[in-house]
Amino acid sequence: MVSTVPTGSAVRVRMAPSPTGSPHVGMIRTALFNWAFARHHGGTFVFRIEDTDLERNTQESLDSIIELLRWCGLNWDEGPEVGGDYGPYFQSQRSDIYADTLAKLLDGGHAYRCYCTATEVDARFKERQAAYKAAKAAGETAIPPVMGYDGFCRSLTDEQLKAFEGRPSVPRLRMPEGTIGWNDLVRGEISFATKDVPDYALTRANGDPLYTLTNPTDDALMKITHVLRGEDLLSSTPRQLALYEAFKAIGLTDFTPEFGHLPYVMGEGNKKLSKRDPEAHALAYRDNGYIPEGLLNYLSLLGWSIAADRDIFSMEEMVEKFDIKDVNPNPARFDLKKCDAINTSQMRLLSVEEITSRALPFLKRDGVLSDPVTPSEQQLLELAMPFVAERVNKLTEVGDMLGFLFVADADFALDVDDRAKLVDTDEGQAVVQAASDALMRLQIWSAAEINDALQNALVEEMGLKPRVAFGPVRVAVTGRRISPPLFESLELLGRERSLARLQAALS
Ligand code: GLU
Repeated sequence: MVSTVPTGSAVRVRMAPSPTGSPHVGMIRTALFNWAFARHHGGTFVFRIEDTDLERNTQESLDSIIELLRWCGLNWDEGPEVGGDYGPYFQSQRSDIYADTLAKLLDGGHAYRCYCTATEVDARFKERQAAYKAAKAAGETAIPPVMGYDGFCRSLTDEQLKAFEGRPSVPRLRMPEGTIGWNDLVRGEISFATKDVPDYALTRANGDPLYTLTNPTDDALMKITHVLRGEDLLSSTPRQLALYEAFKAIGLTDFTPEFGHLPYVMGEGNKKLSKRDPEAHALAYRDNGYIPEGLLNYLSLLGWSIAADRDIFSMEEMVEKFDIKDVNPNPARFDLKKCDAINTSQMRLLSVEEITSRALPFLKRDGVLSDPVTPSEQQLLELAMPFVAERVNKLTEVGDMLGFLFVADADFALDVDDRAKLVDTDEGQAVVQAASDALMRLQIWSAAEINDALQNALVEEMGLKPRVAFGPVRVAVTGRRISPPLFESLELLGRERSLARLQAALS
């Protein structure tokens, strides 16, 4: 029954978020797979905003979705900010189109008006249920009733219609009899018996179109060839396929798109990753210093893989290799540790200059550098970056590591735990004192000289292991146990400030 995409048609896919709430990583994963599919096939990636729920839509949510997609580099070919031949791309601006589609569906008898109230629908369901139970109790074979609407208004007599006059109504799609099936691009053959899929409402009682009408209408008019979306929408697919048949009958389209349902993303405790899980919020990755290459690389692994033994790859490589048939239908587990590890690997592929320029906004935001950055800060930053670029896992860590260089001396403080463990012990104090004495005597303040002096004073003369020897010095001058390499840190900080910090750590 389903006439699929004509062979040879150019691929057109879409992402169609509803701008409610903070964007979810699952949404970015869906966008990514659609984008990669479009790019792989040289097709078109459409971005449509499903903003018909006026009470729940927010401008803030829309702005953050757009910002995130831009940050990820998931650029769209049609949609907000870029336009296109099938606009408008905001459902809130397409009311006339939905009204027109609906009128044609009603005219053609594909949809009908239903006057039942929710209470009536429910009461009839309870009656069917009671009849079923009674039949079973009496030992008769009986089929459990389908929940929801029973098709009561499918063929009303003139008399019944008259009796309903003045009642509010909703249009419902007349579901065909039999089964509806499709060959899912991810899950293979799927079919539903339509007796289990009640005739469904296409608008609210006040006439506002529902998702059930707007989403397929737009997919049809925007000539979407492949619908790749989350598994949570799988149960709406039989209804949409039935609607597509009606669309063909009223001349809205002449083909049905192919469907592929991407696996669920699971969080802790094997539950679907939900808005309550902090790792679900996509913006947090940007704000916490992940790089888009890292996040996208990780998200691409939620249901897909480039090769059995490879985790790290670029989006260009993903585009080249992406085949929707390789997506694994089983639920994918979101693992923040793995996401972090992949982000780190992607950071290692960036040049020092690239990390520096990407870290700058964070350094200003976190108050490590002035805004605008002063020439002397800029100079020090460029000298220091080669020592940290290879050590940071996220862009925010640059500030954690380099803060000691830029902080005003009056504000410099040691990490409380690190100080207690490494500096305020007898051994720590002895080490800091010896380091201070040795460095005070230095003629030339360079990493090489500092290295020699400290090796000599702490390792050779005091007989300490290097790890034990340098820990207290590191905490005293950089404030923390984790820092850029010690001798270079001291050189960058300068003689005067380094010695003052060692002295201060002795009190
Ligand atoms: N607006 C719908 C959502 O965000 C789109 C569903 C679809 O992709 O068909 O869930």
